Amino acid sequence: MLEIRDLHATVDGKAILNGLTLSIGDGEVHAIMGPNGAGKSTLSYVLAGRAGYEVTSGSVTLAGQDLLALDAHERAAAGLFLGLQYPVEIPGVSNLMFLRTALNAQRRMRGEAEASGAEFMKLIKAEAEAFGLSMDMLKRPVNVGFSGGEKKRNEMVQMAVLAPKMAVLDETDSGLDIDALRVVADGINRLRAPDRSTLLITHYQRLLDYVVPDRIHVLVAGRIVRSGGPELALELERDGYVDIAA
Ligand code: ADP
Ligand code: MG
Ligand code: MG
Repeated sequence: MLEIRDLHATVDGKAILNGLTLSIGDGEVHAIMGPNGAGKSTLSYVLAGRAGYEVTSGSVTLAGQDLLALDAHERAAAGLFLGLQYPVEIPGVSNLMFLRTALNAQRRMRGEAEASGAEFMKLIKAEAEAFGLSMDMLKRPVNVGFSGGEKKRNEMVQMAVLAPKMAVLDETDSGLDIDALRVVADGINRLRAPDRSTLLITHYQRLLDYVVPDRIHVLVAGRIVRSGGPELALELERDGYVDIAA
């Protein structure tokens, strides 16, 4: 599904990703863990095509398609979803308007029929309920005045409605209390499917108690220094990143 080969990237002329290689198969859930400043968020921005994040060498394909040749909105239409570490607030635009516009823009770009108002409302109601967000909140401007946990739940609603092939979730667990963490984890687990893959980016191990990944990778100084099965999370929790990287 996602094939990253020897990726190098700079931000403001500073090298942040230094030869990152990663392969995620169809339907797989992988986790990237690593210390603060390792380049985890930078990787997610580079994948999404955020301005200012310059790829200097390497390649990335999504389902065989050259991701780096696409604009950010084309990447989204191709099936990439990015859940941000710090979800943005969009004053003046309701969640409903935002998400329906995004969904239909993606469908148009893929040559698919747009969702009617009724179809969209049915879809979003089911997901809002599943993730514990009221319809009242969905009528409000995107994330404005939402708590940290509500912003993360809202991102899960967005993900579920857009139904990406490849979801990259940056610190989706940060700032969540245990109930919200369970809701988010249940959602990620529920969306697991043979034609969808997920990359969980996390500093802490606790999300991985609820969403058990197929593979875990340790990112240090912009490259993957170690990969393993789910048991690697426990080792990291016990020994920290410094020993693991050595
Ligand atoms: P992580 O998510 O693993 O904590 P980041 O990707 O946020 O790491 O940051 C990696 C490195 O890149 C850090 O040294 C950070 O200071 C630097 N960095 C990130 N964004 C910028 C930016 N916009 N300008 C300059 N340096 C940045
Ligand atoms: Mg950080
Ligand atoms: Mg980060």
